[in-house]
Amino acid sequence: MTFADLGLDDSLLDGLDAMGFEKPTPIQEQVMPHILEGKDVIACAQTGTGKTAAYLLPVLDKISRQEFQHTSALILSPTRELALQIDHAFQGFSYYTGASSIAVYGGGDGQTFEREKRAMTEGASVVIATPGRLISHLNLGYVKFNQIDFLVLDEADKMLDMGFFEDIIKIIGFIPAKRQNLLFSATMPTKIRELARKIMNDPFEVNIAISKPAAGVTQTAFVVYDRQKPELLKRILTQRTDPSMLVFASTKQTVKDLERDLRKKGLPIRAIHSDLSQEERESVLLSFRSRQTKILVATDILSRGIDIDNIGLVLNYDVPGDAEDYVHRVGRTARAETTGEAITFIGEKDQRRFSDIEKLIERVIPKTEMPADLGTGPAYEPERKISSGKNKRPLFRKKRRPGPGGAQ
Ligand code: AMP
Repeated sequence: MTFADLGLDDSLLDGLDAMGFEKPTPIQEQVMPHILEGKDVIACAQTGTGKTAAYLLPVLDKISRQEFQHTSALILSPTRELALQIDHAFQGFSYYTGASSIAVYGGGDGQTFEREKRAMTEGASVVIATPGRLISHLNLGYVKFNQIDFLVLDEADKMLDMGFFEDIIKIIGFIPAKRQNLLFSATMPTKIRELARKIMNDPFEVNIAISKPAAGVTQTAFVVYDRQKPELLKRILTQRTDPSMLVFASTKQTVKDLERDLRKKGLPIRAIHSDLSQEERESVLLSFRSRQTKILVATDILSRGIDIDNIGLVLNYDVPGDAEDYVHRVGRTARAETTGEAITFIGEKDQRRFSDIEKLIERVIPKTEMPADLGTGPAYEPERKISSGKNKRPLFRKKRRPGPGGAQ
């Protein structure tokens, strides 16, 4: 199938051509015909599959055939970063269409608020917004949402995780009941089904291989003692030649410590975490995107939705608490059918969680031998119970390999 087979407007085909998109990805192939037909759609798809274009192209197709300028689509996003990224994709696809957009998200100054207000008063074709900020505008009464044709919920599971259910329902009260609803989510928990039942009309459902990293990602892991991690990380980062590498750690303190330590060792690294202001986060992201910064260390703020091209390596400094987050972290590499590598450090307390991930993705990840001079790591025994100290005598005594400093 080609984009032309879908009957997309010429202005969009020109844009796709300029962006070098040759053929639709599987999610695009499966959902676009239904969206173009006017049906509601629920799509279970991870980021990296091309889901943004899967909804933006049909939305733009409708807008490019409309005679009057009005706000035709409202796209809700859980985070500012994702809102900006959707807006960025919109700018590319809409280049030859004359459609306009505004990204509406928290932070910024009075001028930003005024700019958002003006765009929504004048009827920007597409409004891409985080729920909280949008409600601040809606409460002031000037937003023109009476001709909305599409409501898109992107990363719907994340929005519900962040507690936006009530806000979404409130926002829906401001838009016409007759509209097309498109819901995209990486996972499909019960609460998403409830939301869908509440707001959608006989949706067509697509499920694109959930909970599995894209086929192009080579995944490996090191089984390590926590004290071995810093040196192993430095070793890997200095030896690799990838232009962009992303390191994930679960807590912002670890992220800050890693940035400080690796910078001291002369590595070109910057960090992103929730203590930075919006401007600081954007400036770090920009520097990473433009390859001025080679290594970015981040908390899970970045694990969902953020699209940065050609990240050769994703390194998990620890095993994420939630198995789905592993898929999201690893999904930052090998986007849209390219290849990439993901390496995970499995600490002593992380083994059980890592084995849950292996079950979720239905794959045993190869464990790489530690470099000899860093000493041996622990054995990989995820089923072994970690003693709480209350019951010191284990039921079954398993043989364990000693660490570099003798028995653990
Ligand atoms: P997404 O899942 O929407 O975040 O998209 C992931 C990446 O795939 C983005 O960099 C898109 O620009 C890219 N992409 C989306 N659709 C296509 C396509 N049909 N051909 C090539 N690249 C694509």
